[in-house]
Amino acid sequence: MATLILRIAVPSPLDRTFDYLPPPDCDLSALAPGVRVRVPFGHRDVIGFLVGTADGTAVVPDALRSAHAILDAEPVLSAETLNFLQWAQRYYHHPPGEVLATALPTLLRQGEPAIPPDIPVRWRITAAGREALAIGTALRRSAGQRLLLEHLAPYPAGLTTVSLRTTARNPSAILRTLRAKGWVEPHAAPGPENPPNPCSRSNLARPVLNEAQAAAVAAVVAELDHFQAFLLEGITGSGKTEVYICLIEAVLARGRQALVLVPEIGLTPQLLSRFNERLPGPLAVMHSGLTDRERLNAWLLARDGLARVVVGTRSAVFAPLRTAGLLIVDEEHDSSLKQQDGFRYHGRDLAVMRGQQLNIPVVLGSATPALETYHNAQRGRYTRLSLPERVGGGRESPIEVVDLRRQRLTEGLSQPLLARAGEHLARNEQVLLFLNRRGFAPVLFCHECGWLSQCHHCDARMTIHLRQGQLICHHCGDQRAVERACPLCGSVDLRALGQGTERLENALQTAFPDIPITRIDRDSTRRRGSLEVLLAGITAGGARLLIGTQMLAKGHHFPDVTLVGIVDADQGLYGIDFHASERMAQLILQVAGRAGRADKPGTVLIQTHQPGHPLLQILVSQGYPAFAAATLAERKAALLPPFTYQALLRAEATTAEQATAFLRAGLALAETIADGVELLGPAPAPMERRAGHYRAQLLVQALQRQDLHRFLDLWVPRLRAKKRDQRVRWSLDVDPIELY
Ligand code: ADP
Ligand code: ZN
Ligand code: ZN
Repeated sequence: MATLILRIAVPSPLDRTFDYLPPPDCDLSALAPGVRVRVPFGHRDVIGFLVGTADGTAVVPDALRSAHAILDAEPVLSAETLNFLQWAQRYYHHPPGEVLATALPTLLRQGEPAIPPDIPVRWRITAAGREALAIGTALRRSAGQRLLLEHLAPYPAGLTTVSLRTTARNPSAILRTLRAKGWVEPHAAPGPENPPNPCSRSNLARPVLNEAQAAAVAAVVAELDHFQAFLLEGITGSGKTEVYICLIEAVLARGRQALVLVPEIGLTPQLLSRFNERLPGPLAVMHSGLTDRERLNAWLLARDGLARVVVGTRSAVFAPLRTAGLLIVDEEHDSSLKQQDGFRYHGRDLAVMRGQQLNIPVVLGSATPALETYHNAQRGRYTRLSLPERVGGGRESPIEVVDLRRQRLTEGLSQPLLARAGEHLARNEQVLLFLNRRGFAPVLFCHECGWLSQCHHCDARMTIHLRQGQLICHHCGDQRAVERACPLCGSVDLRALGQGTERLENALQTAFPDIPITRIDRDSTRRRGSLEVLLAGITAGGARLLIGTQMLAKGHHFPDVTLVGIVDADQGLYGIDFHASERMAQLILQVAGRAGRADKPGTVLIQTHQPGHPLLQILVSQGYPAFAAATLAERKAALLPPFTYQALLRAEATTAEQATAFLRAGLALAETIADGVELLGPAPAPMERRAGHYRAQLLVQALQRQDLHRFLDLWVPRLRAKKRDQRVRWSLDVDPIELY
C-alpha cells in the first residue's frame, strides 16, 4: 500500500519542498494543504507549511523522516492564498520558504496559534481631556497630544491603539503621557469604532460624484463579478480617493472585502483617516511599523472577514481575504511597491495577478502612471479611466522652467526663484522647495589638493551632515567626524560642494529671517512623532517655507502652498539608468500636486541647467501623458521595457574577480538554453563597490515574456545546483525597476 507523503515548504533558501511521513497519530482525513507542520530539518525543528500530498517520494526510505506534529485543525493558508503564493514563487523564481517568510506574519511562522485576539483595549477621552482641548493653551506646546485628543473626541466608545496610528506614528507613547495627565482612559467595552456623528456617514457627508468620477465608478461596478484591470488616472485632487471609497462601499454592499495597497502608511494619514471616517470599521492596517503581535492581529481580522477593508503596504498583497471583492493599488507607479531585496516582488504586478486568480477587478490609481501600466492600457489589457480635472475646478499648477546657466546662485537657488518665493510669502502663503538630497552637502573637498570625502567602503562620496558634525555614507551608513584639515595635505581650506536640505535651510534662514521654516527629511523626522508635529505646523497655516526630500512629495496635501520650487531637476535628466527620467517626471508632478487648491492655484518652478532637454520640454508644455508617450516611443526604439522583458542576475563578493567569475559561469550555463533571450554582461554594477563588496551583474532580456520565463525555468535551477564559490552572494531580480 502506498504511504501518504507530505510535501512541506520549510523556511530555507533551497528552491524546493521537502517530503515527510505524517506524524504517527495523525488523522489523515483531516489533513488539508495550508496547515502548519512541525518537522525535523537538519538538526533543528522548524515550522513548515503543507503544500500538498503525494503517494510516493524519491527520498530513500531510510532518509525519510516523520513530521512531529500538525499545528492547525484548519489551514492557516487558504487554497487561494497557497495557489497565489506558489504562482508568485514560480514567477519570481524564488524559494518557497522565503516567499512564505515574506508573505506571513512572523508569529504564525513561529507557531503561534492562529486565533483571533480578544477585544482590544480602547482609549477614550476624559472630561478633563475635553476641557484641556477646549482651553487650548494647555496643549499649545504639544501638537502630537492635541492631534490625538482631537482625534479621540468624536468617539465616545474610544479607539484602539492600532487605529490611532493613523494620527500618530507612536500613539502608545503619547497615550501614556495623556493618561498620566488624566486626559484619556483605557476601557475594554466593545463598540463601533466609528464616530456616532450622524453626518459623517450619511449622504450629507458623501459628496455628489462629478461626471468623470461617476463614470469611473460605474465602469468598475459593472465588472465587479470578474477580473478586469483598470487604470484610474487623475491628478492629485481629482477625486481618486473618493472613487475608491465608492467602489469599496459597492463591494461591501455585496458582502465582500476590499484590499487597498498604498506606498507608505506613514505618508498617507489623510487617506487612512478618510477610510476610517467613511467606511464601517474595523480596518485591518498592515505595514512594517507594526509589532509582530499587531501584525498577526491585523492578519487574523482580514482572514476571518472581521475587517472588511484591508489597507497596507506592499506585503499586504498577500493578506488573507475571506471573501475578496476588489483590489486597489494607490500610487501604482511608486517604486516602494517593489521589494528590493530577498524576495523581489512587485506589489502592483502581484495584485493584478491575484485579481486574475480571484476573478475580481483590480484598480490601479495614479496621477503619473508607470509606463508599463500606460503601455498595458494602450494595448487594451487594462481599461483606462480618467479624472481630467481637479474637484472644484482648480486648475493644474502651471510649470515654468528657470534656466540656471550663467545665473548667480545663492546656495543653489536662483534669483528668480528667491524673488518669487518672497512674493508668495509676503502674501502670507507657503512655499515648498523640493531637493531630493538630505544632509548639508553631498561632498567635502580640499581646495588645496583636490581630496574628496570618499567612503572607504563604497564607490561613493560621504555626505556632510553639519548638525551632527559627521560625514555619513548614504549607501553603507558608515560615518566619521567631519575633518577639520585635509587628511592628504593638511590644508584647512576644506569646502562643501553642492547642496543638501540642511544647507538649503541655512540659506533660506538668511534670505528670509522672519519666516518659519519646516524641513522634512529622514533626519528631521527620525524621532517618533516628529513628522506629525512638523505637519501640524504646516497645517496651522500662515507664511512658511517648506523644505523637503521625497518624503514631502507623497500623500500630504498642503492647501496653503502656492509656490513649489524644484531645486535641482538635472539629477533625473541624465541618469545612467533608463528609468531615471520617468522617476523624475513622476516626482516633479507629485511635488507639484501637493500645492494649491481651487481658490489659490499653485505655480511650479523647475531649476535646471538643461532647459532645452526634449523630455523636460514635453513634460512642461504638454503634461505627463505626452511625456509618457514620448518616453514610450524612445523605449520602443531602444528595445527597452515595457517593450522587452528583463531579469537581472546580481552577484557580489569581496573581490571583483569572484563576482564576475560567478556570472561568467552563469553565462556558460545559459549557452545551450538561451532561446529567444539575450544575455548582456557580465558588467560591473554602476556603483561597483558598496559596503565593501564588489558588485557585478548579468542582464537577461527577451522580446517575449514567455521566452524569458522559459529560459529562467531552465537556467535558475542550474545556477542553484552549481557548486559555487561560497564567498559569492547572488540574487535574481525579475522585472527589475533599477539596473544596479
Ligand atoms: P485624489 O485622491 O485624486 O487626490 P480626493 O478624492 O482626495 O482626490 O479629492 C480631493 C478633495 O476633493 C477631497 O477633499 C475630497 O473630499 C474632495 N472631493 C472629491 N470628490 C468630490 C466631489 N465629487 N464633490 C465634492 N468634493 C469632492
Ligand atoms: Zn588637501
Ligand atoms: Zn559607504
